[in-house]
Amino acid sequence: MFDSDVIKKGINDQAVLQAMHDVDRRKFVSDKFSDVAYDDRALPIGEEQTISQPFIVAFMTESLQIEEGNKVLEVGTGSGYQTAVLSKLGAKVSTIEINKKLFKESSKRLTDLGYDDISFHHGDGNKGVPDQSPYDRILVTAAPAEIPRDLIDQLAINGIMVIPVGNQSEVQYLYRIKKLNDDEITKDKILPVYFVPLIKS
Ligand code: SAH
Repeated sequence: MFDSDVIKKGINDQAVLQAMHDVDRRKFVSDKFSDVAYDDRALPIGEEQTISQPFIVAFMTESLQIEEGNKVLEVGTGSGYQTAVLSKLGAKVSTIEINKKLFKESSKRLTDLGYDDISFHHGDGNKGVPDQSPYDRILVTAAPAEIPRDLIDQLAINGIMVIPVGNQSEVQYLYRIKKLNDDEITKDKILPVYFVPLIKS
């Protein structure tokens, strides 16, 4: 349903396009946004949070270069939409959300929709989910001022993390981080973005 829009904006990965096509975004927003559920823009999901713009979801997912069976940590479950897209790609997803109401709603929604292989966590994603680390991929969907050290520690060697970084008052950028070894990472600035803040507990 987003195919033509996201292709026009430069998403080429067929598996990502298929996953975007398969996950019905309308099921992740309240009824009052049904008419605009397929528009390429962020929408409110309550608790002053938003479901990301479909292009950004596709772009971040493509940048992660997910391979079937990858262990993926998502920070900021929100509506669960991005979680569903990751799961459709064959990733084994753990997701963490700090807001109790959104945590409850999204875990119920995804379970009701038949996603039975996702591990849901409630808490501060700045600290990651150490029990299930290391992760092949980490995706952060809210912006910290700096990349949290715990997330780098929980990334596997050769793992990839995609994360928006920056204060609310300045331009944020999406970064793709690759972990070369325990002491070295590479950092590519890939897109200017606007995300809600990653809250510190
Ligand atoms: N991926 C979501 C987008 C959610 S917006 C979707 O597809 O709908 C970002 C989310 O990050 C919000 O739900 C917010 O509550 C959550 N968040 C903010 N700070 C957090 C933190 N420290 N740990 C975990 N989640 C956090």
